[in-house]
Amino acid sequence: MTRLWNDPAEFADEMIDGFVAANGRSVRRVTGGVVRSTVVPSGQVAVVVGGGSGHYPAFGGLVGPGLAHGAAMGNLFASPSTQQVYAVAKAADAGGGVFLSYGNYAGDVLNFDAAQERLRAEGIRCETVTVTDDVASAPAAEAHKRRGIAGDLTVFRSAAAAAEAGADLGEVARIAAHANARTRSFGVAFSGCTLPGAGAPLFTVPEGRMAIGLGIHGEPGVDEAAIPTADELADLLVSRLLGEIPDGVTVPGARVVPILNGLGSLKYEEMFVVYRRIARLLEDAGVEVVDPHVGEYCTSFDMAGTSLTLFWLDDELAGLWETPVDTPAYRRGSVGPVAQADAAEVADGDIDAIPDADDASRRAARLVHTALRTLVDTIDTHVDELGRMDSVAGDGDHGIGMQRGSHAALAAATNAVTAGAGARTTLERAADAWSDRAGGTSGALWGVILSSIATELGDAGAPEPTAVARGVDAAARGVMAYGKAEVGDKTLVDALVPFAETLTAQVASRDLAAAWTAAAKASTEAAAATADLLPRMGRARTHGEHSVGTLDPGAHSLALIASAVGAMLADPTLEEN
Ligand code: ADP
Ligand code: MG
Repeated sequence: MTRLWNDPAEFADEMIDGFVAANGRSVRRVTGGVVRSTVVPSGQVAVVVGGGSGHYPAFGGLVGPGLAHGAAMGNLFASPSTQQVYAVAKAADAGGGVFLSYGNYAGDVLNFDAAQERLRAEGIRCETVTVTDDVASAPAAEAHKRRGIAGDLTVFRSAAAAAEAGADLGEVARIAAHANARTRSFGVAFSGCTLPGAGAPLFTVPEGRMAIGLGIHGEPGVDEAAIPTADELADLLVSRLLGEIPDGVTVPGARVVPILNGLGSLKYEEMFVVYRRIARLLEDAGVEVVDPHVGEYCTSFDMAGTSLTLFWLDDELAGLWETPVDTPAYRRGSVGPVAQADAAEVADGDIDAIPDADDASRRAARLVHTALRTLVDTIDTHVDELGRMDSVAGDGDHGIGMQRGSHAALAAATNAVTAGAGARTTLERAADAWSDRAGGTSGALWGVILSSIATELGDAGAPEPTAVARGVDAAARGVMAYGKAEVGDKTLVDALVPFAETLTAQVASRDLAAAWTAAAKASTEAAAATADLLPRMGRARTHGEHSVGTLDPGAHSLALIASAVGAMLADPTLEEN
């Protein structure tokens, strides 16, 4: 349970402000997160990490000499937006290119990949390695699908030590991938975490029981069991990890860094009791323990639980692991004096630079702008109705959330169009503004929707109707990957999927306005049908039964927007706008 906050919606921002105020010798605030406040040698590869907030010391606490150069810090448990990742990377870049690394989660992949594309489009070299250490999240044959947990630390640190030693971008990426391949974690949880202002935990574990292999945001575990003794838990963690030794490692004789990570409200004392047995078991297996870590390295807000990471060293990784680190939350060895950077010299990167666009794409950008204006008018008209709908089973903020997001999106699009942006950049700016400003689940999802469409529009040439349909289809897949809802869960997915399917089917034989109008009709019918459903996702889930008979507010607002934009596209006076 969290007890202290001002406005829950401002919590992450205020947390970052306070974190920076307390750690000015290491970090300074930039758009989207933090970068080092110390001098970085020119030409050094910048290691940029990140993810949602709520995992301290991940990710801001790991910025400093010997570790990350910057951290993109999203909202609580929410990926940073593309714009946030991009802005932090621009500020961290010292001319040697940017290396991105983060735990493998759908929303993070979407936003970090889009940021990488944007950096590359500007000529900044960029490579990525996602951390996939959690053995519970997918079988070994599908290791690339695994999510990242406390293994972040070994991968970040290996990459950063290489960067610090002068390795180039390709070499940093190779070493990070190698470290990731030699890092395995496994965890358990005893109780869920409660975000500031939330009335109930995100998930619960039955009293006296333990979820085995549960994810750090409450993703389902692989099993459940009675809470064991400390020694029995050590047996479980070690046996699972010794059951999957990385390629190229031979036990006995292998060197391993064990990291026993607390997830938020487990006591250090409890972890030491568990570690006592872990040390014995590793020794019995003939493993040489190097530099053991017991503490908090990647938490899950106030979740009670722990994970064990084994980092299997070879000579190369052992050499990198010995190098000194000095960050707000993590220190090893002695870094020696590091000069503070002159604030004037390390001003934010020029994140507002608008990529080149041709005239056809600029005309398309004006159409995008008109569509956003139509969207804003639609939300303004229906703001009270959407709020009332959301208060039946949710928290009543859907109308004002959509209003905040859409107005910010329109303002950003206006700026972009004025600066000569093409269609893609205009809609991308709108997407970032929406997700940064709206708050709430729907804000993040509308950011995903708009940025997915943007990617297909391009900044050159007039977008084809089929490109728009591909973008809407990518939006539907992106929203499902991000929010994990499927058709029938009573969310905006119920309106988005039929919209995407109809649009894709119809653009083949009709013009965009006719296809869009047909798709909007399918979306409206599907939104109406959500009245009969019980919600299975999002906030409304907890009070689900109240909502039978009421439309899902997110599905309804999406259908309203789709219909209004359809009418706009079909308007014969449109070209004159
Ligand atoms: P919040 O739920 O954070 O208060 P809003 O009230 O703005 O956010 O939006 C609520 C809407 O968000 C719901 O009506 C539903 O359509 C949508 N939603 C919630 N969770 C999900 C999810 N996991 N996937 C897709 N849509 C979701
Ligand atoms: Mg709401």
